[in-house]
Amino acid sequence: MDGGKVIRWIARALALLAAWVALAPPAAALAGTPLATCFRRALPDERAAAVLDDPRGFDCTSDQRSAGPGDYWVLAPRLPSIARGSLIRFASVWQDAATLHVRYADGATRATGFTSANAWQRLKLGAVFELALPDHAAAPVALLWHVRGAPVTRGIVIDPRVATPAQSTRMEVAMAAFYAAFAGLCVALLMSNLALGAALRQRFHPPYCAMVLCLLAYGVSSSGLLGQLTGMDNNLRLRLNTALLALALSFAILFARRFFHPRVFAGWVGRTATLSVGAVLVTATLYCTLMPWASHWLDAALTASFAAVAALALPLLWRGWRADTPHARVFMLAWGTPLAFAGLRIAQAAGLVRWNFFIDNSTLLAMALEASCSALVIAWRIKLVVEERDAAREQEMLARLLADSDPLTGLMNRRSFLREAIGRAEPQLLVLIDIDHFKQVNDTLGHDGGDEVLRVFARALLAVVPDDALVARVGGEEFAVLTGAGRDDLPDQILDAVRAARMPFDLAVTASLGSERGTIATEAEWKRLYRRADDALYAAKTAGRDRVRWAAAA
Ligand code: GH3
Ligand code: MG
Ligand code: MG
Repeated sequence: MDGGKVIRWIARALALLAAWVALAPPAAALAGTPLATCFRRALPDERAAAVLDDPRGFDCTSDQRSAGPGDYWVLAPRLPSIARGSLIRFASVWQDAATLHVRYADGATRATGFTSANAWQRLKLGAVFELALPDHAAAPVALLWHVRGAPVTRGIVIDPRVATPAQSTRMEVAMAAFYAAFAGLCVALLMSNLALGAALRQRFHPPYCAMVLCLLAYGVSSSGLLGQLTGMDNNLRLRLNTALLALALSFAILFARRFFHPRVFAGWVGRTATLSVGAVLVTATLYCTLMPWASHWLDAALTASFAAVAALALPLLWRGWRADTPHARVFMLAWGTPLAFAGLRIAQAAGLVRWNFFIDNSTLLAMALEASCSALVIAWRIKLVVEERDAAREQEMLARLLADSDPLTGLMNRRSFLREAIGRAEPQLLVLIDIDHFKQVNDTLGHDGGDEVLRVFARALLAVVPDDALVARVGGEEFAVLTGAGRDDLPDQILDAVRAARMPFDLAVTASLGSERGTIATEAEWKRLYRRADDALYAAKTAGRDRVRWAAAA
């Protein structure tokens, strides 16, 4: 398969994946009616009812990320008409606690909420918090979140929406399908690459498997599933996400380093790769241990180091392309999509692009695309290895054929004849054939003419012996035929065939034959059988040539 074909296949696979991505999560992920919000800092001892009664000082225009770390009120002052039993959904971010106060048309206020420790009870797939509106006779008219201990790196209350229970269920099912597909892909890739790694022992397999494992773990953690299953602290889960993503990225670079030709990582690219992966690991470690202390600095450092690794992909892909290996070109395609997504995520983290569910979960999509392409590339590399192996095997077979056959006649030579013959435990018939007065043939026709006689003689032999017989030229003008015993007529048939063979210049050529039966289980048995057949041949010569003799009864 040439490079163009592989690229076309990958393009097809990408198109399929894109179609799947377009169909699977969106309708559900964006389910519900978005709510416009305003925010302001919360002062100590402020009461929600009082804030709702007199909502002053709220900022409804600035981006939430412009706020520093602290405690906040987030107000949704205008609500669409909300059905009873509706759910409020908003994205999971770092915070110590969030309380949702609901103001109803009759002036009543009810509250619901969670802390980081018990947030998992409200965590839905896709890492979205979902709070049921407290049941009340009157309709809700305003929502007010009180968020405590928010570092505000991504926002305070992100993408809040009102959803019906049916919308929520649909989203949960779609998310489950989305993550299950990703997990299935990871497990399949992991299994196939573990098996391939064990079989091929290529150095790039271990980091590849480690990367897929980290991504699988990242999927389980970042989807919120890990929180649902273990009831772990939500901020701890966010630390874990960061650590797993940093590890996955580092293993991805290590994999690329071992997969590509060394010249791709030569010089400054290799040094920058080492530095930026080091920076990712250090900043991720700092982030995981120090957050929420200096949250803005930690977040900026983490974003910058991730961006450095992502930026590194450009010279890598350029050099890979220039290296002119087709699999490097497939990698252009394979890593192009994750890079685009990574760029968007980094732009989002840097505040250049608004928070968006798909961008936030793009790592999974991007890595699914990358992993699929990498699987194709690895399969392709294996194809190359298999082709190399086949060529080597063919070479070896050819060499063996040459070593085992007689170049003049194409029959077996003595060596291969012995190898095949010895070990036959069933009774065999051995016929030794020696051309009569061959010296005279040479004298008459010259050496080349003699050679041609040997070739014609070999063809005549092959034509008359059974298909499974071994036929060898064991000496200058001496041949051996070995076949299963029970073919007592074979020597006479050979004799007739030799007499009938049309020789160069119609020269009359005859041969003498010595025959004997016996088993050839061991070398000693072979020697004995050969000696007896040779004695019979000698007897045929002395009796006047052009005849068959059987070994005398022992
Ligand atoms: P006999 O009937 O007793 O077997 O007589 P002979 O002449 O066949 O026996 P001898 O073994 O004395 O001679 C064999 C001759 O075969 C001698 C040698 O020059 C010739 N010879 C051996 N190998 C080749 C070969 O590869 N090509 C040719 N043209 N001649 C060969
Ligand atoms: Mg001879
Ligand atoms: Mg001879």
